[in-house]
Amino acid sequence: MKYAIIADIHANLEAFQVVLDDINKQKCTHIACLGDVVGYNANPKECLDIVRQMNIPCIKGNHDEYCSTEEELEGFNPNAAEAVAWTRQQLNDEDKKWLRDLKYVRLVTNFTIVHATLDQPQRWAYVFDKLMAAASFTYQNTAVCFFGHTHVPLAFVRDSQVRGGTYSKFKVEPGRKYFVNVGAVGQPRDGIPKAGYVVYDMDEGSIELRRLDYDIAAVQAKIRKAGLPERLAERLAIGK
Ligand code: ZN
Repeated sequence: MKYAIIADIHANLEAFQVVLDDINKQKCTHIACLGDVVGYNANPKECLDIVRQMNIPCIKGNHDEYCSTEEELEGFNPNAAEAVAWTRQQLNDEDKKWLRDLKYVRLVTNFTIVHATLDQPQRWAYVFDKLMAAASFTYQNTAVCFFGHTHVPLAFVRDSQVRGGTYSKFKVEPGRKYFVNVGAVGQPRDGIPKAGYVVYDMDEGSIELRRLDYDIAAVQAKIRKAGLPERLAERLAIGK
């Protein structure tokens, strides 16, 4: 079985399509999605429709939550808040119900998927270091768990201690636990302006990060046309 693990699509249709093409080329047989299908970019409805039509197992991200409720946006980053308000207008009641009904954590085949952390999935904390990863490992019952939310691909391993860092491809060794951030399809933040996702080859026991060029200018043009904040267009070009 060969899984593609995708996260943080964030309404970026061009990046999503490039990733789906690559998933085909890599001969992945299954896909799992770690949430934040919507928010920030200009094609929330289109991206949501693809995830639903393809029947991709998906869990809830913070933007999926904000965009599908009428929750107050106080204390929010103003650009993110503007994008949430705009996205709410693009989605119908059925779309919002679908997003609201997503679970925070799911078991897929024999691995776990979560958007933010396993210790408190609904609190949306960011895992950037060993200490934060260690808290999630305490609640991890499978050898492998994939997460998103930071938009920064990092892999953490626990054996006698917790280690972590950037990665391109590694083997899943028995007796260890892995907590792996798969990067973002639609808004990378590690300084590399390419769409990212992971191929988990369960037969080979390997996890590989894929990075792909996509038409950034087309996405930026849509953001500007929609009247979304300019900063959301600019950040795609620098991957921050
Ligand atoms: Zn996100």
